[in-house]
Amino acid sequence: MTKTTHLARLRIDPNILSNRADLITQVRAISPNLDAMDTVVSSIQGGMDEAQQRLARLDPSAYGKSRNHLDRAVTGLSPFVRHGAMSTRLIRDRALELAEPKPAEKFIQQLAWREYWQRIYNQFPDYIWHDVEPYKTGFRASDYSDDLPDDILTAQTGVACIDQFLTELLETGYMHNHARLYVAAYVCHWRRVKWQAGARFFLAHLLDGDPASNNLSWQWVASTFSHKPYFFNLENIEKFSGEATDTRFKTNKVLAGTYEDIYARLFPNLEPQS
Ligand SMILES: Cc1cc2nc3c(=O)[nH]c(=O)nc-3n(C[C@H](O)[C@H](O)[C@H](O)COP(=O)(O)OP(=O)(O)OC[C@H]3O[C@@H](n4cnc5c(N)ncnc54)[C@H](O)[C@@H]3O)c2cc1C
Repeated sequence: MTKTTHLARLRIDPNILSNRADLITQVRAISPNLDAMDTVVSSIQGGMDEAQQRLARLDPSAYGKSRNHLDRAVTGLSPFVRHGAMSTRLIRDRALELAEPKPAEKFIQQLAWREYWQRIYNQFPDYIWHDVEPYKTGFRASDYSDDLPDDILTAQTGVACIDQFLTELLETGYMHNHARLYVAAYVCHWRRVKWQAGARFFLAHLLDGDPASNNLSWQWVASTFSHKPYFFNLENIEKFSGEATDTRFKTNKVLAGTYEDIYARLFPNLEPQS
């Protein structure tokens, strides 16, 4: 199928695609089912120029030291990788031009995760929507809700930092890896909702939404594709987030406590954590 006929099917005039404002108007016009949340346009720009600029800013050594911090040196390259604008091989080669193998190692490991999830998907396509193993949380899959409650869908859970992470997702289509882990754990373990519901929600909103990286990461957090559930406490968010994140006790009470306390609260059917 040629580009023109494909676009014709979408009823978008290819002559206006170079103009972002007109494109937004056009997409709105052909999308009668958009609801209020969907009318927010992400500030993230697409296109090859943007991808090249992001690659030019790559600093693999800084990445290795601060990648887990919500306000530091991540690349934002994933939407471009996801949609074929840039390969992980090209990004890896650039990283190795910029840094020696040792300081570039953490960054290349993250690219390798993407490749790993893709290969799993390729070999075991059933893993994308089905539990690979039972939950290791002391609960059965039938103990989890099938659907996300409205307060999660609308970023109004009342847990301040979780709402901030969800709002970023809804408004920009991006969320830092560490925030994705926090939100996925909150959904599966604090709210006891099936990982599939969370994965569907992420896929609908992430600009880099990818069945392999997304769904297999959700399964990893849920513990259906790992040996234990991933969870966290407020102190951990405090350590890895910048000032922009609300980590006050009074607005995030359900996340506060020691790891032992939270483990006992979330997984009461399991032996206490030593
Ligand atoms: C619950 C959950 C859902 C996720 N859903 C997606 C998704 O739909 N699409 C997606 O591309 N990634 C997903 N990830 C992985 C990771 O969060 C994103 O790739 C990363 O946050 C993208 O931002 P970045 O480009 O700034 O990453 P950077 O930290 O700058 O990393 C550089 C590149 O490495 C790759 N990468 C980094 N971390 C990971 C990782 N943990 N797993 C796989 N690849 C990684 C990405 O291609 C990324 O662009 C998910 C992770 C979790 C925990």
